[in-house]
Amino acid sequence: MLMKARKYEFGRVFLGRLPYESDLLDALTAFCADNGLNAAFLSAIGALTMATIGFYNQEDKSYETILIEETLELASLTGNLSLKDGKPMVHAHVVLSRENGEAVAGHLMSPTRVFAGEVFAAELRGEPLAREFDETTGLTLWGALL
Ligand code: ZN
Repeated sequence: MLMKARKYEFGRVFLGRLPYESDLLDALTAFCADNGLNAAFLSAIGALTMATIGFYNQEDKSYETILIEETLELASLTGNLSLKDGKPMVHAHVVLSRENGEAVAGHLMSPTRVFAGEVFAAELRGEPLAREFDETTGLTLWGALL
């Protein structure tokens, strides 16, 4: 089966610094909402004082939550912004590294507290992309694509 996709153009491009002790997911979402973004590509690096990540259990169709209460490097965040129920929703995955350099990774959740962070956000201009509940996976996935 072929992948369905929609074409976008790059719009404004932002570099931003995350506030100390902010919640990573909330800060990204607020930034996108404040700047009127409907679709974007997001990338970030930095450091965290604690994190919550999720692993999607495909049988149960629910997220298992992993709470990591230690200081971490935000080695990589990759994500996107689309709309859910008409509001901006950030979907991001993170690779975090521990003091010994080992990595843990997963679906970014709250609470995840920022120590420091640098964000690259690229606005995508085009038809707003809305999430819809998908019966097969139990996830809210991108809906009607061309
Ligand atoms: Zn995810």
